Amino acid sequence: MVTLRIRKALVASAALVLSAGTGLALLPATGAVALAGSSASQAAVASSATVRPASLGTASYAFSSVLDGKPVRWNPCAPILWTSNTTRGPAGGLAVLTSSVARIAALTGTTWKYVGATTRVPTAGYLPKAASATYPPVLIGWADATSSDLLRGQAKGVLAMTRTSWFGVQTPAGAKIAATRAAVVALDRTDVLPLRGGTSWNAVVLHELGHAMGLAHTGDARQLMATLLPRTVADLQAGDKAGLVKLGRTPGCVTVPAM
Ligand SMILES: [Zn+2]
Repeated sequence: MVTLRIRKALVASAALVLSAGTGLALLPATGAVALAGSSASQAAVASSATVRPASLGTASYAFSSVLDGKPVRWNPCAPILWTSNTTRGPAGGLAVLTSSVARIAALTGTTWKYVGATTRVPTAGYLPKAASATYPPVLIGWADATSSDLLRGQAKGVLAMTRTSWFGVQTPAGAKIAATRAAVVALDRTDVLPLRGGTSWNAVVLHELGHAMGLAHTGDARQLMATLLPRTVADLQAGDKAGLVKLGRTPGCVTVPAM
């Protein structure tokens, strides 16, 4: 049995986007600045992972993107629509996705609505270019390195990758307000895992949905969001849950002002 681990190989955090000056567009008419960013994470067999904790968080959890000291998150007051592509996944795959989504919804106080299956492949191209795009914002599905750029060129044993997009504004007064707008989760169909238990598809999907909500890897090896996937941990742990609460309904709605 291989030791399945998780590493953070590709990260484009909001802070990085902002400091690099990319993803920004000045709108002279209002003085407001459009903000946009994305993040990517993956589960992998890692032998020399570089751990870079997010700028905000504790040993038990960390956030992928932070603006004005607050984690970027979905607006928890609006339903999150999701779709799936399980045609190339294991038998029982959709049930794993459904139960994992329900678990995340319960822990965060968010409402997820399944809109049915899609033939779309989970690729980076699924993510919107603008906040105004209308389609199911979350796609979870099985693919491989041939069909999905998210899995292409990754280290051997990569289990999955998640990428999110967020959009927002910086007001003339300088306040930054943004919300996660979309997430795509690509699960590597070439990996053979049990549906549930430690190091299972269920554990991987929960981990990836943690990324989709806005969690980054934590340096706490006991958590499901650990940089190295704990082999025997089958569910989200206390630190994971604490981070998810801060990304959910408890801190209130997220209303991004119109530009
Ligand atoms: Zn990860």
